[in-house]
Amino acid sequence: MTNRVHIIIIKKIIGSHINKNNHKRFKNYMKEKAAGLIIGAHMSISDGYTAMVRDAISIGANAIQYFTRNPRGYGVRALDEDDIKNAFNLLSENGIPCSHIIAHAPYTMNPCSAKEDVRRFTIDIMREDIERLEHFPGTLYNFHPGSHTGQGVDVGIKQTALCLASIMTAEQKTVVLIETMAGKGTEIGHSFEEIRDIIDVAEAENTSIKGKIGVCLDTCHINDAGYDVINDLDGILERFDLVIGLKRLRAVHLNDSKNPFGSHKDRHEIIGNGEIGIQAIERVINHPHLRSLPFCLETPNDLAGYAAEIALLRTLYKN
Ligand code: FE
Ligand code: FE
Ligand code: ZN
Repeated sequence: MTNRVHIIIIKKIIGSHINKNNHKRFKNYMKEKAAGLIIGAHMSISDGYTAMVRDAISIGANAIQYFTRNPRGYGVRALDEDDIKNAFNLLSENGIPCSHIIAHAPYTMNPCSAKEDVRRFTIDIMREDIERLEHFPGTLYNFHPGSHTGQGVDVGIKQTALCLASIMTAEQKTVVLIETMAGKGTEIGHSFEEIRDIIDVAEAENTSIKGKIGVCLDTCHINDAGYDVINDLDGILERFDLVIGLKRLRAVHLNDSKNPFGSHKDRHEIIGNGEIGIQAIERVINHPHLRSLPFCLETPNDLAGYAAEIALLRTLYKN
């Protein structure tokens, strides 16, 4: 704690000296300072959990995202107890709780397909994913709400909601997150209202899961969907609070976009190289409603690129 600014802040918090009364506040301040920005990137799980956590730590991440299974083929490797134990140790040594881990469902499955066998398959896959994730209690399980494939938005919302109602239980520790979508093709969930409707129908169908569905905000997707991240971040979050409720917001996918506001395209870009731009991204990571959530990069990058983005974002984060 040699930085002059920090000393000034600490003096402001605790007064001129540490005594019994302000010691707790000082400790809390230091804890928060050490925690800082919670950020990670989308990682490969192909060599197991432990290798993935090791990779994440090597790029300066304190959050992680991975695909629960290969999107094509949907194969999933058998759970290896040693691997799980080693990954856990590595996570706890590095102060990464499971609530900073996003397990992303394969985006090629579709809970509101017009084809019944696709819907049934999606339910089976998601149910099995949730069962497996209970080995990492408190993990965030993120999924795309699906494409209605011509059935209409209302049918899509209902089918996705019924999928959630049937796979979720009151006992599960895994937090299911609906991702905000860009609205390409017949995708549902590109407005906060549609996401609220999915949650409402799911919770009405299965009242035991009330309050257990969260939301993951994707900055590329919402900007593409017509929420103006550059000029109206405050307005977007006010709207989110009004329609869904900010307590549901559990994670942020931090991506720039290759396409302009309202394009409904969903093409991610490296932070600062896209239409959203570095200044708006800086406001996102520092916004009072977002700054303590786990952020995850899904930008077109290799590990070195992610490490550079994470380092840049840490310098832009105001502690
Ligand atoms: Fe996604
Ligand atoms: Fe995303
Ligand atoms: Zn995307």
